[in-house]
Amino acid sequence: MLLNPGISLLLAVAFYLLWHGRRDHGYVLVAAAGHLATALGFLVQDVMPPLPFELQRIPSNALFLLAGILLMGSLLGHYRLPVPWRSFSIMGGLGLAALSYFLLVQPNLNYRILSISFALAAISFLTVVDLRRTGRTNLVDRILLWACLLTGINFLVRPIAIIWMEGGYIDYVGFQQSLYWTTVQFSQSLVSIILALCLMVAIAQDLISQLQTDARTDTLSGVLNRRGFEDVATALLARHEAPLALLLADLDHFKQINDHHGHMAGDAVISGFGRILLDMAPAGAVKGRIGGEEFALLVPVPTPEAALALASALRERMATPLDASIPHTTVSIGVTMAGPGDRLDSLLRRADKALYRAKRAGRNRVSLHRTAPRQEAAC
Ligand code: GH3
Ligand code: MG
Ligand code: MG
Repeated sequence: MLLNPGISLLLAVAFYLLWHGRRDHGYVLVAAAGHLATALGFLVQDVMPPLPFELQRIPSNALFLLAGILLMGSLLGHYRLPVPWRSFSIMGGLGLAALSYFLLVQPNLNYRILSISFALAAISFLTVVDLRRTGRTNLVDRILLWACLLTGINFLVRPIAIIWMEGGYIDYVGFQQSLYWTTVQFSQSLVSIILALCLMVAIAQDLISQLQTDARTDTLSGVLNRRGFEDVATALLARHEAPLALLLADLDHFKQINDHHGHMAGDAVISGFGRILLDMAPAGAVKGRIGGEEFALLVPVPTPEAALALASALRERMATPLDASIPHTTVSIGVTMAGPGDRLDSLLRRADKALYRAKRAGRNRVSLHRTAPRQEAAC
């Protein structure tokens, strides 16, 4: 009898501690509340000294329904799906109303069992329908979906099958030891553990991928940082089949901006160019800030002319003042095409040569490094 309250209390504490560390994911607290409600439901039903029915069965079943609603709500919350609290409450309310009717007006234990079980099944199935909308196919997401579906089937099929097998129950004499209540306790502990483990693994996976993204992102400009750019660009170079170009962009006379307007104004310019890259770079481009005021772009383009056109568009956009509050500056861009077997460091070296030419030619221009010698062009 203490197995279910024990497991559920432990899970409630675990989710509470998980929420307490970050406090930004309310659904984790909802999961803690769901497991707490399960624990309280079993304590009221099995462990508390017997009370008149209406004082024991109605609160315990209300807690089970609340637990179902909260646990399913927390799963949807994890996927940032809107939780249908209203539909959940209607299903829970109908279940509790039916239970009260078959307890107080027309006492029938079998119908009471079916009222609560069907309400919990409906809540689980509604969650499954919503979870399918995420379209996520990760293994743990698929297991979570199946666990919800099995929970619904368990609530729908098990009571019908057992009432049929046992020929129905007349009263609570020996009910605690009945086949029905034994399977409730067994399946509930299994469902609680499976749903909790899946949710915890899903939370851990999201946290790891968030940390990976944070570690690779430059917070000032919003594009990748040097480490992130090197990782993603190297991976793209290794698997690319379409032609790729590397653009290396360096803000012009940037030191003067810092000197005349202050470091914060310089930061605003860096952030402004980051936004331009995010806006204008085509899909599939890898964008990074690889130095103080130096940006790189590895981009699939069919020809050197297309790469030059993209670089020119970026240069022109930067040459138009960004915003009255941000000091104005221009950008110079070196461009090179990736040949077979090209590595990132060789591409960066070639683009840097082209960039140097653009700077020497007067800045605010783009320059293409052609792989064949003596064919470099400034434009
Ligand atoms: P050039 O046209 O030849 O590129 O000249 P420049 O002044 O842009 O180049 P230089 O390398 O002389 O100066 C770059 C400056 O960028 C120096 C450094 O203080 C500044 N810088 C580097 N990182 C940051 C940053 O994160 N924020 C700000 N505000 N300034 C930075
Ligand atoms: Mg510069
Ligand atoms: Mg520089």
